[in-house]
Amino acid sequence: MKSEPSFSETPNVSITITQVMAYLFCPRFTYFEECLGIPEHEETRFKVLMGREVHARKVKMNPDYLRKRINVVRKAVSVYLASPELQLRGIVDEVLWLADGTLAPLEYKFAEYRPFVFATHRTQLCLQALLIAEAFRASVMRGYLVYVRSKNFLREVAFRPADFAKARNSVQEVLRIIQTGYFPQQRGTPAQCADCCYRNLCV
Ligand code: SF4
Repeated sequence: MKSEPSFSETPNVSITITQVMAYLFCPRFTYFEECLGIPEHEETRFKVLMGREVHARKVKMNPDYLRKRINVVRKAVSVYLASPELQLRGIVDEVLWLADGTLAPLEYKFAEYRPFVFATHRTQLCLQALLIAEAFRASVMRGYLVYVRSKNFLREVAFRPADFAKARNSVQEVLRIIQTGYFPQQRGTPAQCADCCYRNLCV
């Protein structure tokens, strides 16, 4: 059986975490936007969700505030990180130094708390964790989500090895679509597809 192509041999190419989030929302977004150069319209749900992320960042906590309850001893805000090895770059809302010597990403969501973690949010945190681990040569075992619309409810997300593997694989998949023009499987839900600006192109 033919093995999946890897793009690790083209380290000068990198993508953003936002591009991976678009892929996770629907892989065909990547194809239409990156391969065919057809921009999304403002009304698409992914753009709306990303707009909420920007809004969430604007309402983030006092930059000097340290979350003692989760043993934060130091933090940095709005940290830009890039890794040629991971072929990835992005901004982390907060990088936390914890009392146990590990580091953690924290991400604000302009959303209400739900009793589960969306797969896209888990992968976003994992990608941030990979960037943090490399940049600071530290162990990153957990991340945090802050649900702005639920009174800044704080949720811990413990990472599993499979989460990191999935996150790395998502980066490779985005690169594969961009670099080969591969047309991916549909992944949009019926509700997503009904709202999607690409629906007339997407057969
Ligand atoms: S119509 Fe559906 S499957 Fe096609 S790009 Fe939009 S969300 Fe994805």
